[in-house]
Amino acid sequence: MERTTCCVVGGGPAGMVLGLLLARAGVEVTVLEKHGDFLRDFRGDTVHPSTLALLDELGLAERFARLPQRRVTTVQLPLGPDRSLVTVGDIGALRNTYNYIAMVPQWDLLNLLADEARREPSFSVRMSTEATSFLVERGRVTGVRYRTSDGRTGELRATLTVACDGRGSLARSRPELGLRRFTCPMDAWWFRLPRREGDPRGLVGGAGDRFLTTMIDRGDYWQCAALIPKGTDGRRRAAGLERFMADFTAAVPWLADRAHTLRSWDEVKLLDVRLDRLRRWHRPGLLCIGDAAHSMSPVFGIGINLAVEDAVAAARYLVEPLRRGAVGLQDVRAVQRRRWPTTALTQALQRIAHTRVIEPVLAGRPPFGNPRRAQWMTELLTTSRWLNRVPAYFLAYGAVRERPPTASVR
Ligand SMILES: Cc1cc2nc3c(=O)[nH]c(=O)nc-3n(C[C@H](O)[C@H](O)[C@H](O)COP(=O)(O)OP(=O)(O)OC[C@H]3O[C@@H](n4cnc5c(N)ncnc54)[C@H](O)[C@@H]3O)c2cc1C
Repeated sequence: MERTTCCVVGGGPAGMVLGLLLARAGVEVTVLEKHGDFLRDFRGDTVHPSTLALLDELGLAERFARLPQRRVTTVQLPLGPDRSLVTVGDIGALRNTYNYIAMVPQWDLLNLLADEARREPSFSVRMSTEATSFLVERGRVTGVRYRTSDGRTGELRATLTVACDGRGSLARSRPELGLRRFTCPMDAWWFRLPRREGDPRGLVGGAGDRFLTTMIDRGDYWQCAALIPKGTDGRRRAAGLERFMADFTAAVPWLADRAHTLRSWDEVKLLDVRLDRLRRWHRPGLLCIGDAAHSMSPVFGIGINLAVEDAVAAARYLVEPLRRGAVGLQDVRAVQRRRWPTTALTQALQRIAHTRVIEPVLAGRPPFGNPRRAQWMTELLTTSRWLNRVPAYFLAYGAVRERPPTASVR
């Protein structure tokens, strides 16, 4: 029978950070990751100041700084006259060591965490291994059944199983955890366009008629996102790619000269935007964190950050019980109690952005109900340095800062 102390299902940002922190604290931890590597399609590149500060505490700041990256210091929304972009959060103005968002391909961050964790004798990661169901004994989750990509199956028993397997988590099928869904007005399309000499750098937004878009500078190409009203993917595709590119380039005219490089709809991926959270993140023997516990909207780009912070809090609360080999319900409950307020507040702000900005803009109406209110809001956010710092600090560090367990710090 295979056994470990902590079985982490999923090697995304939450799972890899948790694995590293626990292993450094001497806890035996096994991460199961269904893919063979971390090189996947685009899943977000933002590494926020709270994660940068964490990497520093873990002694990884220098290695992280060597990764190819771009720095973003401002957050802009299309709230100005004619939907021009205004800065609603100036992270660069914060007087903290890390006052920027680093744009780093997610696989580079995950590889760095995995390499570092592999140095710990108590850590192991099994790639190409998918957890297929939970082992449950007398109401307690005691591990998982798994299947490898070459068809082998097995059972891994654990004192605690942590579901870090994202928004399609195995745990979400458990009715006792209660999934609460919020309505989202939009879906997102993702595609790439070449980047050329003289283009802007970093994160660039655009707003057109019933249209919002963001471009992420990834060196030789732009990772482009286009927000479309929820459920209109099929209808819009039927209207033709040319029509879409005409709308897109009207919003972002400086990309018009290479719109023709997008040749087919196959190159445009749909992200079904979801906003939800579990009512209970735990049951005996099981804890859910990151997207498994709460899927976030792409608004503010903070899904990775929240997942990492969940992992840090979970490590801090669980190191001691895991070392003792006895994790009680009160231990996993403490993690939810700690992380729930930040999650609920962040989702509430995303819902406000959905209903007050994104939904009206996608319907061709002014944000915040009427142009005068939008102008008033814009002035408030841009003229008051203090008010401008509130969203900046929230984006950078979240509502509550999490500190790793002392035993994991280097
Ligand atoms: C297109 C897109 C763009 C995004 N952009 C941003 C952005 O710019 N900024 C931002 O902060 N967030 C962004 N996000 C959200 C962000 O990716 C997630 O919030 C974040 O990755 C959550 O981390 P996680 O570790 O909880 O889950 P995930 O990153 O989803 O990781 C889950 C891991 O578990 C593995 N897995 C799943 N099921 C199993 C199983 N049964 N067994 C074993 N392994 C399993 C998966 O392969 C994956 O590696 C974006 C998401 C998408 C899809």
